[in-house]
Amino acid sequence: MKIGVLGAGQLGRMLALAGYPLGFQFRFLDHNPAACAGQVGELIVGEFNDYRALDRFVDGLDVVTYEFENVPVEAAQYLSSKLPVLPGAQALATAQDRAAEKSCFKELGIPTPLNHNVNDESDISKALGVTGLPAVFKTRRHGYDGKGQLVAHSEAEALQAWEKLGRVPLICEQHVPFERELSMVAARQITGECVFYPLTENWHTEGILRKSVPQTNINLDLQSRAESKIRSVMDHLGYVGVMALEFFLHKGRLLANEMAPRVHNSGHWTMDAGCVSQFENHLRAIAGLPLGSTQPLSISAMINLIGHAPEVDSILRAEPTARVHLYGKDPKPGRKLGHINITAPGLESLKRKTERLSKLVGG
Ligand code: AMP
Repeated sequence: MKIGVLGAGQLGRMLALAGYPLGFQFRFLDHNPAACAGQVGELIVGEFNDYRALDRFVDGLDVVTYEFENVPVEAAQYLSSKLPVLPGAQALATAQDRAAEKSCFKELGIPTPLNHNVNDESDISKALGVTGLPAVFKTRRHGYDGKGQLVAHSEAEALQAWEKLGRVPLICEQHVPFERELSMVAARQITGECVFYPLTENWHTEGILRKSVPQTNINLDLQSRAESKIRSVMDHLGYVGVMALEFFLHKGRLLANEMAPRVHNSGHWTMDAGCVSQFENHLRAIAGLPLGSTQPLSISAMINLIGHAPEVDSILRAEPTARVHLYGKDPKPGRKLGHINITAPGLESLKRKTERLSKLVGG
């Protein structure tokens, strides 16, 4: 089976690396000739809205997926007239617009931080009336890793945020003083069968994920509440593949922050903790194969390498059991260059190893 991936960043690269043992072949489409998945598979260089590039990309493929949610919906629709595009264009359209995403959550009865759309400067005071202060202003589209969002502590700061974010449609959200950030990664087959990984706790700085730890002492009630939320989103969208849903845990409630219609950074630990990885389960789902176990065989943690990566040698000398995944990207401030997965026989040693490696990578 030949799988086409829209986008050729690290997620595409890890999809291919998970798919080769299953006999899959891969082709990527990306505007960047240096995109890092090009090191591990055929790369077609072109824009997503260049229909000649899309035709070259699609020739000989069996199925198309994406590793990036800002693919234009029209490109996914165009391709889906020729072959299956999974997950479908509706999932893409919902996930790439924060307002559509919030109305999807609302329709399904999934609680979210209080929010209001801001289409114009004149909407700001009404929005603050809904959310209170502080509030987070986020561009409806194209935000990632904390980009395209600002926190406002006063109406004056809110007006500045409107200017600084470029006077584009925004969503204004209540700034939630959450206790924890959690995410759930799940996979759904075309038949509706789903598998769920354990809830994972995430730590961000400056909007960028630094560390993820799948929960071991799982609170089963929390796990099953998160499962039913992500299942209802996936069922609603007729979803096929892996999805991630990010939550804030606040006063015992799970508030949905956002969904990712793709494999997700908070699921990278699945590569080395003994279960079938999120990458393989995504491929199994889109290829119509049975989904694999999401049950970890070991406790684990994941640390991102952001901006700079120490030499592999120094990481492995510090911790020979660490598994290093480098993405083949040039260093740049704030750029995700790789990650380290850490496993251990017990919580104490996991904590020790994680602290040592976090110090080494500057986290
Ligand atoms: P996002 O791009 O929406 O995932 O936001 C990136 C990060 O900013 C989140 O993981 C949180 O750490 C923080 N954040 C986003 N929205 C809120 C909010 N409404 N309240 C508090 N923190 C937030």
